[in-house]
Amino acid sequence: MNLTQAIKDAKRPFLITGPCSAESPEQLISVSKEIAANGHANVLRAGIWKPRTRPDSFEGMGAIALPWLIEAGKETGLPVTTEIANRHHAELALKAGVDILWIGARTTVNPFAIQEIADVLKGVNIPVMVKNPVNPDLELWIGAFERLEKAGITDLAAIHRGFSVYKHPKYRNVPTWELPIALRERLPDLPIICDPSHITGRRDLLLEVSQKAMDLNFDGLMIETHPNPDKAWSDASQQVTPEGLKAIVNNLILRSKDLNSPDSPILDELRHKMASMDDKLFDILSARMHISEEVGKFKLEHNTTILQQEYWTAVINSRLGKSNDYQLSERFIRQIMDAVHQESIRHQTRVMNKRD
Ligand code: PEP
Ligand code: MN
Repeated sequence: MNLTQAIKDAKRPFLITGPCSAESPEQLISVSKEIAANGHANVLRAGIWKPRTRPDSFEGMGAIALPWLIEAGKETGLPVTTEIANRHHAELALKAGVDILWIGARTTVNPFAIQEIADVLKGVNIPVMVKNPVNPDLELWIGAFERLEKAGITDLAAIHRGFSVYKHPKYRNVPTWELPIALRERLPDLPIICDPSHITGRRDLLLEVSQKAMDLNFDGLMIETHPNPDKAWSDASQQVTPEGLKAIVNNLILRSKDLNSPDSPILDELRHKMASMDDKLFDILSARMHISEEVGKFKLEHNTTILQQEYWTAVINSRLGKSNDYQLSERFIRQIMDAVHQESIRHQTRVMNKRD
């Protein structure tokens, strides 16, 4: 099959659904049939080899589940995909006739593993989806695509599943949306699928993250769907029933990517206004840095260090205290103030450390 073309031809969002893990033929085939009958799968997914964090977790049924996946594909007429993490998985999945392969986040981090998979796939015509590495390293993600391309695999797609962090207050994996956006800048033709299941780790947050992905022009969604999520052998808290999946798909608001709507003069004007405000902002910032240089001269004459911590802490706190008035988040205010301060220090350093 040609995945890139199928994504282009499909109604948005392109859906890759099915259980986190294949548990039994009945589980996999029953849920696949239900999802397919609802029209909520373009591709069926099921994990067969599961890279789990802790050794006593369920690590997948292994190769005996491959025929179940193939059977689910036959029963529904849909292409099927599973995760491969090494050359043996790749060989077994190819032999079984899996239509699309995906490389998991824990494998994308390892260039040796990616290269060994690419070597097995040399000369094979099969689409491959690559999840982001667990750490937010854009080059590593791109490197995986390059290794596959060098092996002749050109039907590629990316899956954004978020990045590992220690104790995030909300998500299992933090989305860091800048990364898939930067990937799109670098590889504009590469389809990007969002995996809200692994980003959120919680089924009640799937809709909001799916909506965000649609608003950021992602091509599709990979959502783990299980006949009885609470009893799932892996990732129970993030899986939904086919009915739950239906609620997500039906509640998504799909907006047009096309700006040439009749409203575009309004948008043009608003953007024009914002651009002229940005002009003013930069004029003000530039003038502020001239003042920083004056401050630098004063400190030089009085032999004082650049940083007076107490003064700076007071400056930041007074701005943070106004976050309600400004209707700006404290995080944003801090980022802006830190950036302004760094640039100011750079200007003062130039003035103070001129040795001639
Ligand atoms: C999965 O999709 O089931 C999975 C294990 O994903 P990830 O590689 O993103 O952890
Ligand atoms: Mn999972």
